[in-house]
Amino acid sequence: MKKISSDELLIGAHTSAAGGAYKALLEGQEIGATTIQFFTSNQKRWEGKPLSEEDIAKWKEALATTGIKKVMSHDSYLINLGSPNAEGLHKSRKAFEEEIKRCHLLDVTFLNFHPGAALDGSEDTCLKTIVESLLSFAPLLEKGSTRVLLETTAGQGSSVGHRFEQLGFIIDRVKGSIPIGVCIDTCHIFSAGYDIRTKEGWEKTLQSFEKEIGLKHLYGIHVNDSMKPLGQRKDRHAPLGEGEMGIECFKVMMQHEALREIPKYLETPEGPPLWKKEIKMLREFANEQD
Ligand SMILES: [Zn+2]
Ligand SMILES: [Zn+2]
Repeated sequence: MKKISSDELLIGAHTSAAGGAYKALLEGQEIGATTIQFFTSNQKRWEGKPLSEEDIAKWKEALATTGIKKVMSHDSYLINLGSPNAEGLHKSRKAFEEEIKRCHLLDVTFLNFHPGAALDGSEDTCLKTIVESLLSFAPLLEKGSTRVLLETTAGQGSSVGHRFEQLGFIIDRVKGSIPIGVCIDTCHIFSAGYDIRTKEGWEKTLQSFEKEIGLKHLYGIHVNDSMKPLGQRKDRHAPLGEGEMGIECFKVMMQHEALREIPKYLETPEGPPLWKKEIKMLREFANEQD
């Protein structure tokens, strides 16, 4: 099978939609991105601003002119689909439905979300509630082509999704009913205890992913170094090679058969000038093998 050239690999960053969703695509183009992630509404508010006809038209035009593919949306930070609190759960499900609708209007490929947090409830109940939430979206998801992706978390506080077993539990129960998948965040899994600093470490981690979830469910990667050491369960992103994970991790990732062609999204601090450099560097790592 012919490999995709390093220039065509889908690599981008979480760009800014300030001033209109289409701006996220234009910012992506400026930094040499071939894919992007963005927020379809303010990530810190419950109520999203509805998309106008003009927003949608500008978005479609920018998609065509930039050639950006497999766009990922990140849901609002307030949403907790595993909330033990009836009101919180109701608000979360409603807000997530709005997220799905906006993704459908913009033909967004992936809707990435943090699985949920147990808060004062049990982890087990939280996982079961997430399953119920996801199944409730089945009729709506059927109306478009967006796939929802569970993001691996760092396991901060009471958040679930930091063990592959937890994600496997959810996927096993919803996979026949909704378009589902996983987005690995390199910083988060490292912080959750999966040591991916070396080739051997990646191999071990991917074996565990295959066993607990199945690699066929991996659709995206958030590419971040970690300011915190292995297993600290703290979510603090660092520029690639400047954190505790080191640059070798990202070289292996770009050259690994199972990871090379998975779309990648930087969420490193500092913004566009850094992303431009990092995208170029990641392509060079892939290119060493072309
Ligand atoms: Zn992430
Ligand atoms: Zn993070």
